[in-house]
Amino acid sequence: MSDYDVIIVGAGIGGLGVAGLLGRKGIKTLVLEKSKMPGGRAKTRDLPGGWRLDSGTHCVDNGDKSACAQLLKKVGKEIPWTIPLEGVMLYDNGKWLNTADYYNMSDQEKKDLADFENSFLTMSQEEIDRLDKVSLAQFIKDKVTSPKIAEYFSIIGMIQTTLSKPEIISAGEFVAIFQGQLKTGKKSGDFGNVKMPLGGVGKMTGAQAAAAVEAGVKFEYATSVKKVIASKSGNIKIITEKAEYSAKRVVMALPIWEMVKLFSEDDEALPKGWLKHMKTLVDETSASIGFTLGAKKALFTEPVYLSAWKIPGVGLPLQIFLHTNFDKTIAPPDHMIAFIGACCTPEQARDEKFCKEVWAKFWATLQKMFPGLEENVVWKYDGNMVGIDGLGRSPGLTGKYRPPVYMKEVPGLYFAGDCYTGRGVGMNAAANSAMLCAEKILSDKGK
Ligand SMILES: Cc1cc2nc3c(=O)[nH]c(=O)nc-3n(C[C@H](O)[C@H](O)[C@H](O)COP(=O)(O)OP(=O)(O)OC[C@H]3O[C@@H](n4cnc5c(N)ncnc54)[C@H](O)[C@@H]3O)c2cc1C
Repeated sequence: MSDYDVIIVGAGIGGLGVAGLLGRKGIKTLVLEKSKMPGGRAKTRDLPGGWRLDSGTHCVDNGDKSACAQLLKKVGKEIPWTIPLEGVMLYDNGKWLNTADYYNMSDQEKKDLADFENSFLTMSQEEIDRLDKVSLAQFIKDKVTSPKIAEYFSIIGMIQTTLSKPEIISAGEFVAIFQGQLKTGKKSGDFGNVKMPLGGVGKMTGAQAAAAVEAGVKFEYATSVKKVIASKSGNIKIITEKAEYSAKRVVMALPIWEMVKLFSEDDEALPKGWLKHMKTLVDETSASIGFTLGAKKALFTEPVYLSAWKIPGVGLPLQIFLHTNFDKTIAPPDHMIAFIGACCTPEQARDEKFCKEVWAKFWATLQKMFPGLEENVVWKYDGNMVGIDGLGRSPGLTGKYRPPVYMKEVPGLYFAGDCYTGRGVGMNAAANSAMLCAEKILSDKGK
């Protein structure tokens, strides 16, 4: 038996969100987290010398009007946000150009682009749902005649979804994200009010954790769950290295690739084939290759996203996010933190030889883009990562195809995080899922 009404496995944005919302309603809640701190994939670490380093580019789509901000508000917290990201600049033969100059669009093309964007605003939920199975490549082919506009939307889709080509991006997800941006004030050419928590993403997840603690939620950190045994009625069992717990309601607030490890195929309470199906989704996620670097000098100062469409010999789109252009508090004065990389397939990110080639080619390209970079570097970390942004936003995997936040066959088993119901870019998808999951638990409890 457990002293808790609800046990949550995982203290990322999803788990913290559910915990805070339930705690505020007086539900006795325990969070089990394998790491020593909250935040999951959205953490900030202090490094010696005044650097504060996020666990990756953590741009919050729609900033202070995002699902993340809405979730914070619901648990009684507000955080300061950085200035907004102003747009994308593209590399062309030694120069960084804004999109209008890069594409040198005619007045007609500019109008067509704005009309295409505006058409997203009036699209109904049913139309967006229908587009979930269509690729962005197909959608653009059907709707756009100008190759420049087609390329522009392919780049935006790639940045939004962390997927490397429009053929594997769902048009439904793309339109849903774009529509959300338009509804929260995006104008043609800008970037949809994207902001970061000032001081790093850990300020946001830290505020979420503080809200949950203040609401009476208990946390056990450094506690890795090894097994979860479902039950059709009654309690669900959770086994860690040190103890065994059980509760009537359990929230699996972990990404699919972690969650599937905890259940057994022999668990009779689980619907037949469910675990097998979930395991087929493990690699349906985004991945990246790149590096993070700290430099003595800001090499570029405008608050924009930098992108270079295809790097010669690599075939991956390079993206550069200069975090310090938005937030001076995370580095020593006048220093720079940059996240530089490309989205790629999980197979590419796991291929060490491929990664080494990409790192070398990107580095050579960067030295051309930013002369003097090498002598200014203070530190540089190479990185390759699988599982960035939850379940990939590919055709047939998003919107109504997403696994739901509860399991109707096993009352009491719930899910939260960026892999489960809830659209949007990673952190917003996780925040959305947390709100949906808490709402479902409260309604099941008759609250
Ligand atoms: C490099 C990088 C860049 C990103 N950039 C962006 C961006 O710009 N914009 C954006 O919106 N999103 C971005 N994301 C995605 C974003 O970080 C995630 O979508 C979000 O943080 C997911 O939250 P979550 O709660 O679903 O999962 P997680 O944060 O993964 O939380 C799951 C938690 O479960 C814990 N856990 C796992 N296994 C166990 C176990 N067995 N027992 C106990 N605990 C366990 C983990 O330690 C973790 O704390 C990025 C991610 C990465 C990695």
